[in-house]
Amino acid sequence: MNKFFVFLSLSIASLINAAPFVPANRPYDATHYRVKLAIDPATDPKTFTAEAQIKIKASTALSELELDAEQLEVTTVLQTAPVKRKLEHATQKDHLIIKFPKEAAKGSNLAFTITYTGKINDGHKGLFKVTDPDDTSRGPLLFTQFESLGARRFLPCNDEPYDKATMELVVTTPARNQVVSNGKLVSDKKLKDGSHEVHWSQDKPISTYLLVMAVGPFAVLKADSKKPEITVYVGEKKQTQAKFALKSTVDSMSFLEKYLGVKYPWAKYATIGAPTFIWGGMENVSATVMNEDRILMVDPESASDYYRIVGLVSHELAHQWFGDLVTLKWWNDLWLNESFASFMSTRTLKEIYGAELADMGFTQTIWDGYYREEDGPRSHPIVNDNLSGPEDAFDATNYTKGENVLRMLNYYIGDEAFRKGVTAYLNKKAYGNATYLDFFESIEKASGEKLDKFRDSWLLQRGYPVLTYAGTWDSTKSTYNVVLTQKSNHAEDNSLFTFRVPVSFHRRTAPAYDKEISVSISEATTNQAINLPAQPEWMSVNPRGVALVKLVPQQKEESVFSLQATQDPDGVTRSWAALELASGLLEGKSISNAAEATLIDVVSQDRSPHVRNILAFVARRMKTRWFPEALGNRLLELAEQAQDKAFRKTVAFESDPVGWKAVRSSLLSDLGRVKSPKVLPFLATVVTNKSLSYDELAAAAGSIARLGDPKSAEALRAALSLQKGRGYRYEFTVKMAFAAYENPAAANEIREIFKTCGSDYAGRVGWVVADNQPLKNSPEWANFLKEVVLQSTRFDDEVKSRLMKSIEEVKTDHVRDALQTITKETKSDRLREMARKILDKNFASSKV
Ligand SMILES: [Zn+2]
Repeated sequence: MNKFFVFLSLSIASLINAAPFVPANRPYDATHYRVKLAIDPATDPKTFTAEAQIKIKASTALSELELDAEQLEVTTVLQTAPVKRKLEHATQKDHLIIKFPKEAAKGSNLAFTITYTGKINDGHKGLFKVTDPDDTSRGPLLFTQFESLGARRFLPCNDEPYDKATMELVVTTPARNQVVSNGKLVSDKKLKDGSHEVHWSQDKPISTYLLVMAVGPFAVLKADSKKPEITVYVGEKKQTQAKFALKSTVDSMSFLEKYLGVKYPWAKYATIGAPTFIWGGMENVSATVMNEDRILMVDPESASDYYRIVGLVSHELAHQWFGDLVTLKWWNDLWLNESFASFMSTRTLKEIYGAELADMGFTQTIWDGYYREEDGPRSHPIVNDNLSGPEDAFDATNYTKGENVLRMLNYYIGDEAFRKGVTAYLNKKAYGNATYLDFFESIEKASGEKLDKFRDSWLLQRGYPVLTYAGTWDSTKSTYNVVLTQKSNHAEDNSLFTFRVPVSFHRRTAPAYDKEISVSISEATTNQAINLPAQPEWMSVNPRGVALVKLVPQQKEESVFSLQATQDPDGVTRSWAALELASGLLEGKSISNAAEATLIDVVSQDRSPHVRNILAFVARRMKTRWFPEALGNRLLELAEQAQDKAFRKTVAFESDPVGWKAVRSSLLSDLGRVKSPKVLPFLATVVTNKSLSYDELAAAAGSIARLGDPKSAEALRAALSLQKGRGYRYEFTVKMAFAAYENPAAANEIREIFKTCGSDYAGRVGWVVADNQPLKNSPEWANFLKEVVLQSTRFDDEVKSRLMKSIEEVKTDHVRDALQTITKETKSDRLREMARKILDKNFASSKV
């Protein structure tokens, strides 16, 4: 890597401020920013020179002006109003201080013009460069990424979310490049030298972290709808693949406007594809940047392309209201952005693909990501006043738990009051900032309910309730007595949570019935009696995954789980019961023959493709090496059938092709845990099919890797050399399988890949290795991790922190030693803090 980047990563480390992360509350209000620059991405510039005009209004008498400015070399500062003069300036840490010869009066309006030079980053923060691995003829492309603290790397500014201002961007660049930014296009002038000057104006106030600039060669797709104008910017050769994203944007726009009862608030909506972007998307006002691959329908045979595009498009679009129109006042309320965007995304998926898919998809993120995080070293309340920095707030607590809090609130007060409250909140706080208290004020008003207990229990304390349930039948009164007991997942916390949970009762023999009630919970123990026509055959708590609870039946009866897994009307409950039957495998033990027989029924017969896919979840997380024999053989048989052309002709497939395409790949995912000499040869053949869908390739390669066979690496290399010709995504996918390779030798394979891969790959490896027991527990992995965190200059803290998540559950000496070395030697406060938290949680007795 070039020297420039070495310098950059050292300077980041030395600039991080160890003091608590609190608002600066500077004594002025920035009202307008205008940035002007000339840039040509094709020359691969390492720096940029710009002129910024800044207008402020003094809230007190001011003798100097402090602005955030990181890695900016300021050359001149001129005051332009109310008087014209040159001013002295100084740079202190990441601040620019402008001195006034005479105090400016309280309430005065001041304007400045600042010229400066900044850096173009390789990490995706500030102004950065990417290249398109599928089309090198595009040359370098330039993007900005400012959330959370990146705007200060592009312009001197009051980089605090509560200080909103109007913005303008004026960029001169050769004709082949497009320039995209926030707001309205004011002009696009051809200049004599063949370049053009593009002027964008954002005339409604926005936070600095939502400003954007994208410069490079793009083709533009435009939707037919006129208001607002909807466009998608992608590479010239990818226009056909981007049509589905454009259509999804139009569909999401009309759904969200209707649902929210608030019109889309900005001049236009553009989506700009950034190849290899480390984030899925960034919701800059009226101009979202998305990882380009994630908005391309590369492979219509892959179910994930549909879900992923609709899910991402609607999440980022929802941010235009939640985050952009109404912005968090401070980063401790990040959930006001992310939970709402995630909630609206699940709502949109529900609208398009049905409730079952949306509820199942959401519930799995709880089981898979959130529980793991909350039970691990990084647990914290949603509204977190002990932030050491905003970056680590982008976690499952703010996205997944936060979304679940909104689901529970929606259920608690009902659809109508919920929507009314959300609409009122958006209208009241439009173009301003909010805290969680503002949101609940609107919701309480709309619902007429007092919600402080609900609010505080979910937002101000960490954790989730573990809910134990039991029931007894009183035949004399024809009454079922339900007892629900809650306890925080954190044994040391005495937290109680306030919520309502649905409970359903079922009977299939005469008198057959299904009945659901809603139970209010706030105390440690809740008793509820319900009259029923006859004794229920089973009771299900929390159908549809409404409440954020971990369910524990007081009596674990396999016969009841079997009834639930095969007969419950609710898909989430059927999946949950199947997981209970598979719980032995998840814990590294065996399961009974009866449980195995039920799991075979689920995977062979369930009417919902999403429930059948639950075995893929088990396969990924189970600690037992192999599925039991009969189940394994059945999975192999089903996987073989699904590869047959006849599979597409079945009635089920025709009724829900996207859902059943997902089944096909999920069956391939199961095979990494099937012990049979037939599996590896079968998968090795599957991955050499050149028209294999992307989902199936990912699943089959992942299973080859999980088999952990020395021959697995060989099969993956063969797949890589064959599939990489189909494009970056296919190459990326097979390379990613090495992170799932259940063999300590994988550390060396990944070390090789890390020499050339981008942040998009490196930033994902940690999540995959977290499920790779043999690798993450090996000394080889601990050494590799330490090496990357301490020595790599190719990757920034974001990538390194994601990588460290792979060992959050590992308690080996190698990991302890690696973490201790990291705490001593890293120059990054963020990484030191993370290493320390893991040591505290998992190695509390060891001295550091
Ligand atoms: Zn988001």
